[in-house]
Amino acid sequence: MCAEVHRKDRGELLAHVREARRMREEFRRLGTDPNDEERERLKVLDKRGRYAPDVMPEDPIPLLAVGQFYARDVPGLEAPSGCDLLQVLWCPFERHDGHQVHLRLVWRSTADVGVPVTTQPEFPVVDRDGCVPSPCVLHPETVREHQYVELLPADLQAKVERWTNWDDEDAPDYQSDLSVAPGWKIGGFAKWNVTGPGEVPVHCGRPMRLLLTMATSEWDGGNRSWVPVEDQQNVGVMKASTPTDISVSRWGNMYIFVCADDATHPHWIMTQ
Ligand SMILES: [Zn+2]
Ligand SMILES: [Zn+2]
Repeated sequence: MCAEVHRKDRGELLAHVREARRMREEFRRLGTDPNDEERERLKVLDKRGRYAPDVMPEDPIPLLAVGQFYARDVPGLEAPSGCDLLQVLWCPFERHDGHQVHLRLVWRSTADVGVPVTTQPEFPVVDRDGCVPSPCVLHPETVREHQYVELLPADLQAKVERWTNWDDEDAPDYQSDLSVAPGWKIGGFAKWNVTGPGEVPVHCGRPMRLLLTMATSEWDGGNRSWVPVEDQQNVGVMKASTPTDISVSRWGNMYIFVCADDATHPHWIMTQ
């Protein structure tokens, strides 16, 4: 639950977000445009409003499920001992005091799970469409990443610079094509392309490690070399690169760091 004090009465209706997505998906599938009636309906669905006038800022509301990762599927997950499942939940509102996102990482042992609930408890109002994940299945693939260019030792940076062919637009470049993969991932490196390299907090005597990257899109025009083989025929298809429908931060990447010693210690979030 999110028990932090903030407005919870205003936003978009979760049911509306989902209905609008279903409608738009259908138009895309059929290659048609909405008729007048459907256009009116979409207007209603996209409308923000005070949909929960009785809910007070201090009332706790259920968090929204965002992701679920099994250690058996994701080799780099590095779950704390006794755990083999990571569940990620967040508050569907983005205006918490002193921090934007209220995110919870829940580590579990699947052996301890009894009868799972069939219906997720959900709060009917969300801040905006981009806070709501569309259910999708993960197909994890292991890739090798290399440190963000500005964090390489100076001699390596100079080598990369000399190697880069700036005259050929189609030539691979370290930054987009070879170092840090775009899209959702576990582990790997963070891209500091907005602020430049910043300080990663130290916990238990060591810099925190990157656990999870949540990304608005799986690839863009600049980093298509990372597009999975299975998706290559869909590169130009609308929405192919945004399967989760989540949009994070202004720049599109949210990095969740955890303590290198114990991932159950408090996490740190960085957006770029
Ligand atoms: Zn909240
Ligand atoms: Zn720690």
